[in-house]
Amino acid sequence: MTTDLSTYAAERGIRYFMISYTDLFGGQRAKLVPAAAIADMQREGAGFAGFATWLDLSPAHPDLFAMPDPASVIQLPWKPDVAWVAADCFMEGEPVAQAPRVVLKRLVAEAASAGLRVKTGVEAEFFLILPDGSAISDGFDTAEKPCYDQQAVMRRFDVIAEICDAMLALGWKPYQNDHEDANGQFEMNWEFDDALATADKHSFFKFMVKSVAEKHGLRATFMPKPFKGLTGNGCHTHVSVWNGDGTANAFADPSMPFGLSAKGRAFLGGIMAHATALAAITNPTVNSYKRINAPRTLSGATWAPNSVTWTGNNRTHMVRVPGPGRFELRLPDGAANPYLLQAAIIAAGLDGLATDADPGPHHDIDMYRDGHLVTDAPKLPLNLLDALRAFEADTRLTAAMGAAFSSAYLKLRHDDWDAYCGHFTAWERDTTLDI
Ligand code: ADP
Ligand code: MG
Ligand code: MG
Repeated sequence: MTTDLSTYAAERGIRYFMISYTDLFGGQRAKLVPAAAIADMQREGAGFAGFATWLDLSPAHPDLFAMPDPASVIQLPWKPDVAWVAADCFMEGEPVAQAPRVVLKRLVAEAASAGLRVKTGVEAEFFLILPDGSAISDGFDTAEKPCYDQQAVMRRFDVIAEICDAMLALGWKPYQNDHEDANGQFEMNWEFDDALATADKHSFFKFMVKSVAEKHGLRATFMPKPFKGLTGNGCHTHVSVWNGDGTANAFADPSMPFGLSAKGRAFLGGIMAHATALAAITNPTVNSYKRINAPRTLSGATWAPNSVTWTGNNRTHMVRVPGPGRFELRLPDGAANPYLLQAAIIAAGLDGLATDADPGPHHDIDMYRDGHLVTDAPKLPLNLLDALRAFEADTRLTAAMGAAFSSAYLKLRHDDWDAYCGHFTAWERDTTLDI
């Protein structure tokens, strides 16, 4: 593992480091630091005015220092004289409690102290669109059911293969790429890893996809529902929990239903119990609620959930158990903050273990066709405000995510909601002008 960034620079011909941290809205903020200055920065951190980003800090706060975590360093495959390194936020020598990577590290440590290691894989779907964002970039990509369209994926081969080659070179073990269910939509899969490593990879993946798309004269978006009537960008997260040294999957038990051990069921029980509150983190934007609870899309299915239900291998539910020893949370979308996504799953899951939570009955129906028949499962929040209220009311989850984080997050997201409500829309004029 790399420990000295200065040596790393000398060995690899790095001219600049991007010392990068992620704020509460998932924005990646970086300083470009010449290799000659990296030794000092590694010791003292890169200085930022925290108020200038979404961390709920004031202009009067002292400087924020982003301390690079050398274990996360990545040489940019598309610009090899630059390296990206994830950083943890500090102020006056203390970690900033609400900073997303700090929140996740605390929850990973909590799991570790219980002898557990949470391993996750994310499916970060994205669209390739025109640089002005107005439409998808491929005018020929118009099929009603475009999923796995071989002609359309090959028209974007240069972009997809460049990204996949980069993941191969980075040792992420990518194994498949496809055209997804919406016109202009793609998914690239790489192997699951420890939650913190997955969060760093997820962050870097978003940065890489956007950068490579721009290099090819396109734009990439992870927006939850960029186009009305088309399937949105999910970020399904597959979860398993292992023993402390990561050698045995504590979720796997072939003798149990769905191959999910008692621990797996209790962890899942925590996810089910906290789901409506979790949505505030996994579906964090106004637009997120146009992906879940959405009307049928052009392809015939939204592939997104609308209720808090779980099942075996059936993609119409919020949680799917695709095989023994893991489950897939289909709730999160492309706007989910990579660190908070993992943190919230661990927080809810550990609470499930602590309370031996029962995930309740599994519903094995087609939720898109027969969901109205389910009367014993809560509906997912219909909008961001409902989700924020559910989060605020879930005091076990807010406590597990940390009081400083929860109050900062709620404050900024409520401001976000208020800004949306203050925005006048054409729909209002169209439907109200002549009333
Ligand atoms: P699907 O589209 O069927 O949901 P994908 O193949 O697109 O599945 O993505 C599956 C993700 O789950 C990958 O990131 C994979 O590495 C991950 N995964 C597989 N097994 C586990 C496991 N035991 N724990 C956590 N993640 C896993
Ligand atoms: Mg997939
Ligand atoms: Mg999936």
